Amino acid sequence: MTPFPRPDYGTLARYHFDRTPVALDLSDNTNQWGTHPAALDVLRTADVDSLARYPDLYADDLRAAAAARLGVPEACIATGCGSDDVLDSTYRASGGRAGDFVAVATPTFSMALPLAQMNGMPARSVPWARALDDPNRLLEGGPALVYVCRPNNPTGELCPTAWVQALLEAAGEDGPLILVDEAYVDFGGDTFAAQAAQHPRLLVSRTLSKAFGLAGLRVGYSVATPETALEVEKSRGPYKVARVAAQAAAAALRDEEGWITRTVAECVENRTRTEALLAQRGLEPVPSRANFILFRAPGGSARTDALAIRDRGVAVRPFAGDMPAGSDALRVTVAPWPLMERFRAALDDYLTTLDGTP
Ligand code: PMP
Repeated sequence: MTPFPRPDYGTLARYHFDRTPVALDLSDNTNQWGTHPAALDVLRTADVDSLARYPDLYADDLRAAAAARLGVPEACIATGCGSDDVLDSTYRASGGRAGDFVAVATPTFSMALPLAQMNGMPARSVPWARALDDPNRLLEGGPALVYVCRPNNPTGELCPTAWVQALLEAAGEDGPLILVDEAYVDFGGDTFAAQAAQHPRLLVSRTLSKAFGLAGLRVGYSVATPETALEVEKSRGPYKVARVAAQAAAAALRDEEGWITRTVAECVENRTRTEALLAQRGLEPVPSRANFILFRAPGGSARTDALAIRDRGVAVRPFAGDMPAGSDALRVTVAPWPLMERFRAALDDYLTTLDGTP
């Protein structure tokens, strides 16, 4: 009998996490300040008369807007239906020899490991602490692709610039492609985009889902040399970004109103305030460079604690064993301060049930 699905799909599952409606959802790192106003203007005046026609093959105007924002040539940009699509296309364009695998610094973005399996490769997870000790650990066994998230989800940590440089040097220009996922870089961190435009073994992925507030529209892109960008586009296929999505994303990337600068500055300020309130409660927040904070699960069980806080109207994301010390953790998305006050109230109410003090 011809097997279906592929035997190596055996342990894959559909992506799942609790999305039942809740009064305040701070679980998914989306933009709590809303959507970039320039994108909203485009969407409100969308050209519906052209919907019967296909969009641009490879979203050239969006590529131009991304290239201008980052100061790289347009030929270095490949776009996709969310950065998930860009990552998927990059994985698919990698490997292909028997025994090829993807090395992933973990804990990290929950799709980084399954994407390997989806594309016919095993994944090898290398704990961040070991990888940071020596970047060669990510190269052991000769991976076809190395995935590094910077700032990292779910910890919010930014691995040092010099460490990435050392990894690139160790990999060499004939080594594996190093994929640096910069989904959260707008919230704090230097970008490797300029270097990716020149380095044959470096690809940077970006998303419009976080700082730009367009998660519902599904737009992402990558920066690499023109040769690598072409391979990613070949793997991705045509027409992946809807015309209106590409137009809205391009307007947001041009950011003529400075909305990104303003909202990111407020997010960073609220991140500091939230880290302080978590620290005051002994919850050991991991210093974050992203728009979320990971902290120790107060009652010891991420699942139970997240449910208890959800019962009080606020969703946070549970992570079993993902604190640097190995304990369970919760991740909260940083939001405008009145919303963080609601998070604080829900947390304090729950803390009172644990040991009598918030
Ligand atoms: N990379 C990271 C690190 C993420 O956290 C996410 C979404 N949570 C993505 C990529 C995918 O984002 P999108 O497909 O919405 O661009």
